[in-house]
Amino acid sequence: MGNYEENYLAKRPQHLCQMCGKCCRVVTTSIPYKKLVEMSKKGDKGAKDFLSLFVPYESIEAARKVDAGIVDNIINRLIDDGNYREDDITFYGCKYLQDNNLCSRYDTRLDLCKHCPSSPWSIVPPGCGFEGWLFWKREEIKQKIRHSKEELLELKLLRMRTKDEETQKRIASVENKIMKNIEAYKKYGSENW
Ligand code: SF4
Ligand code: SF4
Repeated sequence: MGNYEENYLAKRPQHLCQMCGKCCRVVTTSIPYKKLVEMSKKGDKGAKDFLSLFVPYESIEAARKVDAGIVDNIINRLIDDGNYREDDITFYGCKYLQDNNLCSRYDTRLDLCKHCPSSPWSIVPPGCGFEGWLFWKREEIKQKIRHSKEELLELKLLRMRTKDEETQKRIASVENKIMKNIEAYKKYGSENW
C-alpha cells in the first residue's frame, strides 16, 4: 500500500456495509492457493488467518454456481488489469457465513474481516455499499499522484538551476521519495495518470 493510503482504514465509513455477505461468500486472493498453503505452514499470519476461514470451491464453475456475478466481476477486473491467470485463481467461501448472510462469529471476526475492503483497489462485489466510496478514494489518490508529478517537474527545474551541490542532493532526495510513492501505484497504472 502506498503512502497516500495511510489513513485509509481509519477513515473508512463502516456504515456503508450493507451486510449482504457477498464478500464472505465468494472471494479470491492475489496469491495462488498452493502458495497460501505453503505460507500458512511456514507460519505466515495472513495466510493462516485466511485459510482458517475460507474454504476453496472445487472449481471456478462451482463458485459461479454460488454467485456468477461476483466471479465474473473479479475475473473481468483481473483481465482488465492484465493479472488474470486461470491456472492460478481459486475462489473461496467463508465457513462462518450463515444462510441469512450474517456472520456466525461477528464479535470475534478477524482483522481481515474488519478491514474488508482493505484498499481502494480491492475488487468488491457488484452492489457492495463501498463501491462509490472506493471509486472516490482511487480518484483522490490519482489526483495526488498527478500533483506529485507536477512537483517533480518543478523540483527538476530547481535542481538544474541551483549550483550548490548540497542543495542539489537535498532536492534529489525529495525527488526520490516522490518517485517511490508514484512507483508504489505502478501496478494500478500510475504511469498513465
Ligand atoms: S460486499 Fe460490501 S456491502 Fe456486502 S458485506 Fe461485503 S463489504 Fe459489506
Ligand atoms: S468470519 Fe464472518 S465476517 Fe469474516 S469472512 Fe467469515 S462470515 Fe465474513
